[in-house]
Amino acid sequence: MSTTELVLRSTRVITPQGTRAASVAVAEGKIAAVLPYDAEVPDGARLTDFGDDVLLPGLVDTHVHVNDPGRTEWEGFWTATRAAAAGGITTLLDMPLNSLPPTTTADNLRTKQDVARSKAHIDVGFWGGAIPSNVKDLRPLYDAGVFGFKCFLSPSGVEEFPELDQEELARSMAEIAGFGGLLIVHAEDPHQLADAPQRSGPQYADFLASRPRAAENAAIEGLIALARRLGARIHVLHLSSSDALPLIAAAKREGVRVTVESCPHFLTLTAEEVPDGATEFKCCPPIREAANQDALWQGLADGTIDCIVSDHSPCTTDLKTPDFADAWGGISSLQLGLPAIWTAARERGHTLDDVVRWMSTAPAALAGLSAKGAIEAGRDADFAVLAPDDTFTVDPAELYHRNQVTAYAGKTLYGVVRSTWLRGVRIAEDGVPGEPVGRLLERNG
Ligand SMILES: [Zn+2]
Repeated sequence: MSTTELVLRSTRVITPQGTRAASVAVAEGKIAAVLPYDAEVPDGARLTDFGDDVLLPGLVDTHVHVNDPGRTEWEGFWTATRAAAAGGITTLLDMPLNSLPPTTTADNLRTKQDVARSKAHIDVGFWGGAIPSNVKDLRPLYDAGVFGFKCFLSPSGVEEFPELDQEELARSMAEIAGFGGLLIVHAEDPHQLADAPQRSGPQYADFLASRPRAAENAAIEGLIALARRLGARIHVLHLSSSDALPLIAAAKREGVRVTVESCPHFLTLTAEEVPDGATEFKCCPPIREAANQDALWQGLADGTIDCIVSDHSPCTTDLKTPDFADAWGGISSLQLGLPAIWTAARERGHTLDDVVRWMSTAPAALAGLSAKGAIEAGRDADFAVLAPDDTFTVDPAELYHRNQVTAYAGKTLYGVVRSTWLRGVRIAEDGVPGEPVGRLLERNG
């Protein structure tokens, strides 16, 4: 029996059974017990009382582009994990592309892990990549510890990470399904994109027309058909088109092994509000109309959409040219996802329990991170402490990611992260990150 070192107390602790007043006992970095609020504090244990601030499980962000090594001027493990810690995130999974090398072989994974190890302020794991040339590398990469594999169906934006055509997709999906792995997919159909009008310039409407809903819908329909045929487990990344929700819901009912994520920008920003030339709002698939956003929230409410993750994908400021066709696509929101989503969720009548399910419990389950994602005995003592009724206005200068460009500048948001805790250690306080005490995570590790 290990000794309780720490007791964290709040009138509002979010547990899988709901929100209640509780004392959380921590021993050796794990949650030892969730006890009544007024439980006696054991001799020698430290008590931290958060009062009415909410104690929630640390967020799990399974969609982050850290770009390190290789494009570290875009982002890096030091800066990304500090931003994450300040924002209440305790675990992130890094996407396999935009770094050099990309995470497409076991050797490349080791290279990335060596770079990340001393810089991680939170726990960090890695997705592998599935590209046309690496089917033989997938199994060794899985055995080396990646949590699953990402692929594109349309150009990724970087030449070292090519997309899969239909034949290559089927081959990779069959290989991954053969060893019980998960394939996560950027789902936009290249033929539908090629058929869409391509007009350059500063108008957001032109960019939106170039990435139609039909491209997402067609890609998702094809993926579901293939997953059904192969018995594969797939995950649809960054869903923007709400038109695809009925077919995803039908596939889930039928037992196809498909899960879905959406992102803060699709759920809190709208096409109607994007100013001309404001390419900090550019991402693929794109932010769509307000009515589309309402339907995405319905998809969250009815369980068709499982997770909300950032798709934090930064670049240097010079790549955000005012022409939507040329600018690098990607929205930086690592530090802001929780308040952005909470602000919209509360307006729509959702609770913090819902937000925790979407941003911590479900992403942890997606990746098989059984020690993360909930406040219950046996899990890691990872927490965020949130003042849900306090507000702040987003000042890019207060963000810790490397290039302080964000689509949320000037927004007033509900939910101030007071502190963040990783395995019982405070890793950020009042928005200021601490020491790099994060660990590298491997599947089953
Ligand atoms: Zn992404």
